[in-house]
Amino acid sequence: MNHEDLRLWSKRAADWAADYHADLRDRPVRAPLVPGAVARQLPEAPPEAAEPMDAIWADFERIVPGGMTHWQHPRFFAYFPANAAPASMLAEQLVNAMASNALIWQTSPAATEVEQVMIDWLRQAVGLPEGFVGTIHDTATVATLSAVLTMRERALEWRGLDEGLSAQPVLRFYASAETHSSVDKAIRVAGIGQRNLVKVPVDESRGMTGAALRAAIRADRAAGMVPAGVILCAGGTSVGAFDRIADCLAVCREEGVPSHVDAAWAGSAMICPEFRALWAGVEGADSVVLNPHKWLGAQFDCSVQFLRDPGAQVRTLGLRPTYLETAGREEMVNFNEWTVPLGRRFRALKLWFVLRAYGLEGLRDRIRNHVAWAEEARNQLAALPGVEIVTEPRLSLFSFALDTEAATEALLARINDDGRIYLTQTRVDGRFAIRVQVGSFDCTREDVMLIAKVVSEMLAR
Ligand SMILES: *Cc1c(COP(=O)(O)O)cnc(C)c1O
Repeated sequence: MNHEDLRLWSKRAADWAADYHADLRDRPVRAPLVPGAVARQLPEAPPEAAEPMDAIWADFERIVPGGMTHWQHPRFFAYFPANAAPASMLAEQLVNAMASNALIWQTSPAATEVEQVMIDWLRQAVGLPEGFVGTIHDTATVATLSAVLTMRERALEWRGLDEGLSAQPVLRFYASAETHSSVDKAIRVAGIGQRNLVKVPVDESRGMTGAALRAAIRADRAAGMVPAGVILCAGGTSVGAFDRIADCLAVCREEGVPSHVDAAWAGSAMICPEFRALWAGVEGADSVVLNPHKWLGAQFDCSVQFLRDPGAQVRTLGLRPTYLETAGREEMVNFNEWTVPLGRRFRALKLWFVLRAYGLEGLRDRIRNHVAWAEEARNQLAALPGVEIVTEPRLSLFSFALDTEAATEALLARINDDGRIYLTQTRVDGRFAIRVQVGSFDCTREDVMLIAKVVSEMLAR
């Protein structure tokens, strides 16, 4: 396999991709769950001799697609979307061809500079004020980890980096129980300790209030501990909970505690001005993460972190040994200094292609449709006998259940074995519920209306 062969095979790959997407609706959304079925088809040892690409390709077609859960399926209503708009896929092909590493400015100047401009385009698109800059991480998990490490070091006046944590005061972080497990993971990895992540109680709308946050911070201070950071939830993964962002950020300011807002899913919806009330006050945050790789269509991996002032994060995560210097260009941004990994993909190109190929209007239309269709699907489901809406739509996410856990679980299994749609589950105050989120890039109203049809058929079985 050489580059001339690649010319031919990549054309074949492009045709395969087009056919795959054209026929996606004919495939079951979720992979058939037969553990070991794929591994059994692979030889136990690697080949000693080179194999012809024909044979490799044939095995790919025979083994892989049938063993995949199809995230780009228009009837993928599980988890959150991981949308890959066609324009994003094209950009990734070009990135793939250049296969460069954007660790510092010098190693890929265009990657760094397109990234800076795309961050600013997206800042304007979601209505954040001028002054916020940012970077593109692989995942929200790494963005949140970067933010937590930075808040840790701010609280320790950067002693932790040198001295380690063992002789330091106890640092406390605050989040509601609705925040994503990536927050718990960041707290663990950062050496804070799970027990020092205070899960602040939420109100009846499942949001943290400023008063509850203030009480938690003051109680810790009185006990001699050091409040180091607040992580706010703007669109929780379970049922789409939002903390009272403005109230909580006012408390952060009063108490002098830095903040990070996790809007990994819902942040994309903020390109529509009418949804911005949900995170009103966000301009007071120190750090905000949103994943264009979820709802916007710039495919995985593309997680944007906005920062009011990158200085603290660069001071925490930036290292510049001689071999990473660019002589005479020390003022240029080296994005590896804003994150944990050194090596970085050129992730901004797909954002550039997506924002141009659909325009903000095209992207807003999609998100508005998803939200409206989710409401319609909710109403159709609520009309089915025995179905109870457990949580009302937050943007395009809601949940429902039957009267018992066993019945709900059995219904979910039947839905997903049927394969026309794919839904997943959560727990709401201990109650097992089926989650529905509408967000697939090219789903139609008809696709979404199939949810109630499938559920009603499965109930009748
Ligand atoms: C998906 C999600 C995450 C994790 O995102 P990754 O990019 O996969 O790390 C974190 N928080 C929320 C609210 C999410 O929806």
